[in-house]
Amino acid sequence: MACSENTEKDLKNINSIAEEYVVLVHIIGKYDTDYVDAYFGPDSLKQKALNDSSSLRSVKLRILDLTKDLDSLIKITKIDLVKNLRIKFLKQMLSSMNFKVNSLLGFKSTFDEECKELYGAVSPKYNDEYYQAIINELELELLGKGSILDRYKVFKEKFIIPTEKVDTVFKVALNEAKKQTKSFIEMPHSEDLQLEYVRDKAWSGYNWFQGDGFSLIQINLDQPIYIERAIDLAAHEAYPGHHAHHTLMEDTYVKDSNWVEFTIYPLFSPMSLISEGSANYGIEVAFPGESKLKFEKEYLYPLAGLDSSLAEKYNKIQSLISKLDYAGNDAARMFLDGEFNEEQTIDYLVNYNLMTKERAKQRLNFIKKYRAYVINYNVGLDMVRDFVIRNGGTSDNPKKRWLIFEDLIRNPYLPSDLEVK
Ligand SMILES: [Zn+2]
Repeated sequence: MACSENTEKDLKNINSIAEEYVVLVHIIGKYDTDYVDAYFGPDSLKQKALNDSSSLRSVKLRILDLTKDLDSLIKITKIDLVKNLRIKFLKQMLSSMNFKVNSLLGFKSTFDEECKELYGAVSPKYNDEYYQAIINELELELLGKGSILDRYKVFKEKFIIPTEKVDTVFKVALNEAKKQTKSFIEMPHSEDLQLEYVRDKAWSGYNWFQGDGFSLIQINLDQPIYIERAIDLAAHEAYPGHHAHHTLMEDTYVKDSNWVEFTIYPLFSPMSLISEGSANYGIEVAFPGESKLKFEKEYLYPLAGLDSSLAEKYNKIQSLISKLDYAGNDAARMFLDGEFNEEQTIDYLVNYNLMTKERAKQRLNFIKKYRAYVINYNVGLDMVRDFVIRNGGTSDNPKKRWLIFEDLIRNPYLPSDLEVK
């Protein structure tokens, strides 16, 4: 049976390519310690990378060799959907790795090039007038003296969860997000997570997936946590966001298929656009329509000791504020492309993203550390939302929406899969 012999040989080839890919990701991780976000594969592959003293230039050659191996595998194998899935995934990952290595070697690129090459998408550009029109709408919602930023800041202070109540409020939000998710998606019984509160970080929350369906979720208490963030963080970091995504992918492709390439998550890669986009979209999947506001008013506001009579108004204002989100990408683009210095970037974030100066400085630190990664949250969200709706997962069809969403977080989708074909 020549055919099955071929298949077995090809499988062996692709398995060894996948192992070499994992080793290379680990080696790049030695040059950028943020690169490997999660690893739960064999220790031997990590050890192999630790013992490997390859220069970045030789890593680059190995990436190109591996890409050629994949190309020749395509030529000698018959069309096989499963194999194609692995080849397509590995090829795109290797391409983003090649770009990452070039950056580490000092090659310069524009913000848009970095977005495209690392994350598989670019962020739309909006001019000042676009943001100003949204701010004008906000002006009408927040009448009073002083600048719009000051008025927004004063209004927003009413919605800060007191630090001593963050844990209680967050856990109630987390339980609800879990309940909603599990009523539509069957998760492995062993899945679990641990919560930790931290300070002095560039992010507001982080999921550290550790394998075997287990996540460590850290919440940063440096900045005030506003009431709507309880559900946002719970859904984004845990259910049906990062924790569910990692757990389901691991269940399908590591536990069932033993595909080693899915035991590692390189942060600066197309995986992140899907990961952040689906985690953000997961908020509206788990809490559709008015249900988020209803749950907040009924449970979270009282637990936090906040006045729920202002909830509708706050919600309306937050919806307008979220339309300013792309200003963060535009600020990152202008800063990283050298058009803005630090001060100008902070001013832009203050003026068009309505951030306090302190928050804008924190955002600038995030941009410096994570660079074009910023687009994954909003461009990713819009791409995931469009994809789900385009395929029939509209808000009036929640079952279908969950089905498409589950498929998206259970399988190795890439940004190009979300584009209109
Ligand atoms: Zn995230």
